[in-house]
Order: sequence, then structure tokens, then C-alpha cells
Amino acid sequence: MSKVIMEPSRQIPILDEADVLVIGSGPAGHSAAVAAARAGAEKVVLVERYNHLGGMATGGFVLLIPHLSFGGKVMSGGLQQEWIDRMEKRSYGSIGPNRADTGSVDPELIQKWAGYWGFVLNDNINYGAYLDPDQLKVVLDEMVHEQGDKITTYLHGWAVGAVMDEDTIKGVVIESKEGRQAIMGKVVIDCTGDADVCAFAGGGFDEDRDRSLRSASMASVYRLGGVDFRKFADWKTANFKEWYEVHMANMARITGFKMSPHATPRNDQCWINNWIPKYCLDIRDLTAVEMSVRKTMFEAIEYLRVNIPGFKDAYLIDIAPQTGTRGSRRIHGMYKLTKDDLDNTFEHEDTVSVVPPFNFSVCQTPTEIPYRVMVPSKIENLLVAGRSFSSSHEANDWSNLIPHCANLGQAAGVSAAVSLDEGTTVREVNIKRVQAILRDQKSYLPR
Ligand SMILES: Cc1cc2nc3c(=O)[nH]c(=O)nc-3n(C[C@H](O)[C@H](O)[C@H](O)COP(=O)(O)OP(=O)(O)OC[C@H]3O[C@@H](n4cnc5c(N)ncnc54)[C@H](O)[C@@H]3O)c2cc1C
Repeated sequence: MSKVIMEPSRQIPILDEADVLVIGSGPAGHSAAVAAARAGAEKVVLVERYNHLGGMATGGFVLLIPHLSFGGKVMSGGLQQEWIDRMEKRSYGSIGPNRADTGSVDPELIQKWAGYWGFVLNDNINYGAYLDPDQLKVVLDEMVHEQGDKITTYLHGWAVGAVMDEDTIKGVVIESKEGRQAIMGKVVIDCTGDADVCAFAGGGFDEDRDRSLRSASMASVYRLGGVDFRKFADWKTANFKEWYEVHMANMARITGFKMSPHATPRNDQCWINNWIPKYCLDIRDLTAVEMSVRKTMFEAIEYLRVNIPGFKDAYLIDIAPQTGTRGSRRIHGMYKLTKDDLDNTFEHEDTVSVVPPFNFSVCQTPTEIPYRVMVPSKIENLLVAGRSFSSSHEANDWSNLIPHCANLGQAAGVSAAVSLDEGTTVREVNIKRVQAILRDQKSYLPR
């Protein structure tokens, strides 16, 4: 055992008391808070450790909301679709195919979008959008402000413990510049992405991972300006083998990890995605990811400038304020999504999200995600929404993208409001009413 010190016990002031307490404000947490308030919860408290809402979608510079359709049918709705609709109204807020063009096989449209990753699938137009991260921060704030007094937001508050009464969670302990404080909640929704709250509460979880999977890698994303992305996209479409086998391989040799440029709503900017096999709950790995990307960044940019059409005048704009985290703890829940769910077409009575297929070697039909994946096996009054839902690593890798996390968050928020209204627990919630409200909130549900 490593060396330890004893921390003396002490009184902790209560900062606030909520009906619904949401920890973490990424796609899941933001959606949970807004959906709970819209579904009638009177006092929602949203806590975020950083200075903005949106998690990876804003602070992580993960600009792509992908795979929102299948076989020409749009499978996007609810708050996730609202993000896109609001961002489309803003100058340089969003770029992507028109929703009405979903499924089109028009060669001109296919040519237009082929170099924009995610928008052409099986030779037809796949619905999705690239969003500007800073404008998205403003839009996410707006959606919270619209709820008036119903949502209280605390930025710069880091959840560090759970307040428990045996197996029932009663609140969360946070650290901020004010020191250590507690926030109580009748229902708590853990949207930290890493199931931090569930772990503090003593809920079980899995952490096994397969290093060949996307979700076992981390990133430090950065943005480039001075780019002609259209030129790059067209060149890449025509020279895919060379791009992939020569240039991506060369850049991986320079940096030590795979990296690739992606679109932004502005043609003169791109974001550099990267995949570094490290673990985001290890402080040494977190440090190594940040510093290794910065160490080789300028060599990689120079390679792009010299070798790749569209990058001649490229320069660094900024580095994502949040480290890219794709996967960590996955809770033990009332239902575990596994490879079986990807290989089959299961219908669930409590489906709250649907994942359209996007890689046919992994899955051929839409995958339904049941509400039970968010209900921990043994902790009461707690839901865990977002990427740490109950799942095997293969199934999680498939279904932890931004739209799926937002859908789970929205369902968790509505469930919290319904359970409080009806005086039930979130485990025993009236799921039919939750689904009916989700439909009213324009979520996509299969039935
Ligand atoms: C580099 C990269 C590229 C990706 N590419 C895509 C893509 O193209 N499209 C796509 O859809 N998905 C992509 N993903 C995956 C996607 O971004 C995430 O799976 C998704 O954002 C998870 O949403 P979430 O709400 O569960 O968690 P997060 O987005 O991680 O949000 C969690 C929030 O909780 C906060 N938090 C964490 N711990 C605490 C705590 N203890 N106290 C208080 N606050 C806390 C965090 O600061 C954060 O704001 C990518 C991920 C990465 C890293």
C-alpha cells in the first residue's frame, strides 16, 4: 500500500439544496438539467468543474455531431437536434448537409460532402453537423438562462464525494475556491462522464478496456487557422490511399500517435483530432497526453504545411482547454449493453435512445438503448447519464458519442422530474410517462 495521511473529520457547509442535482455539464449533463426543468422540476442545480458548459463538445473541441440518420431516415431529435437548429441560425455556427437531403444519392451532394468525415455513408448523405465550440458555449448558456430560476448553475465546482444514507445518495460534496461544501439533491444525476459520483457513492463499475478501440484513447485537440479545408477535403477524396497510407502514417511517426484534421463551420479553420492510448483517470497519463501533444505539435503543423494541399498557410489558433476523454468507468446498472445488442435488433419497452449504424463491420441495424443502463444496481436516487452508462467496452465504444450521451441525459432529466412529481424512485419511475414527455420534447424514439 502506498503511504497515506489521515484527514481529520470536519463540518461541511451546505451550499444549496436541489430537487434535481446534476453533476457535470457535458452533452449529458446540460441535457439532463434543461430537460428536468422543462419537464417540471422546480429546482435544478447544475455543477461543472470548468468555466463553461458543454464538456467535450465545447471545451474538448469535439466539433462533430455525427451519424444522426440511417438509410435516409433522420434519427435525431430532442435537445441534441435543438443544438443544431440553434447553431444553424448563427453566422459560422454550423456546417453540414441539409436535413432534407438525408439519404440523397445525388452525385453533386456526395462530391460536396465526401471529404467531410461522417456525412457520406453507404454512398448516401448521412445527417450530422460540425458546430463552433465557442458559439455553442453561448447557446448552451442561453438554454439554461431560458429556464429562469428553475436552474441554478455553479461553474468552478469540482465534485469530490457523495453524501450517503446507507445505499441512498442524498447529495454531493464539491470543492471550489470557497473550500469544501455540500449540495443536497432529492435525485442526483451523475454526468461526469467518468461516473465519479457513482464511484464516490460506492456503486460498482467496470474499467476494462481494449486498447485497439477508440474509447480507450485520449486526446488533446487543437485548431488551425489559415486553412483551405475545401481544398484539403477534395484532395483527400481523390487521394485517399496516399493520405491514409503515406501522410497519416508519417504524421503518426512524427507525433507518436494517430492524428487527423476535421472540418469546422469556417473553411479557413480545422480541428486536429488525435488518438493517444492513455487512461483519463490516471493523473500521470493526463499530464503525458497534454505535454506530448504540445511537444510535437509544431512539427506536425509544418508537415501539413509542406505536404498537404490546403495547409500552406496554416497556423495554430488554440489548444482545447479540456483534455479529450473518450472512455473510463462504466457503471454496473440494471441493464448492461453488450456486443449482443450490437449483433441483434432488440426492442426494449424502456428504450430512450437509438444509435444508428455507422460502421457496418460492427453493427448493421439501429441499436436501442434502454433506460435501465442509467440505473445503478445498488445505489438509490442516482442516475448515471452520458458515456459511463452500464455497458461492455465494445458496446460503449459504439454508443458513447455526443448525440447518444445527450439523449441519455435528456431521458435522465425527464425521469428525475417524473419521479419527483409522482413520488416514486428513479428506479421505479413510470417509464411510459417519461417516454411520452420525451416525445413531447421531440426526442427520437422508435415506437
Ligand atoms: C478527441 C475526441 C474526439 C471525439 N470525437 C467525437 C465525434 O466526432 N463525435 C461525437 O459525437 N463524439 C465524439 N467523441 C466522444 C464524445 O465527445 C464524448 O463521448 C461525449 O462528449 C461524452 O459526453 P458526456 O456528457 O458523457 O461527458 P463529457 O463530454 O466528458 O462531459 C462531462 C462533463 O463533466 C465535467 N466533470 C467531470 N468530472 C467532474 C467532477 N468531478 N465534478 C464536476 N464536473 C465534472 C467535465 O468537466 C465535463 O464538462 C470524441 C471524444 C474525444 C475526446
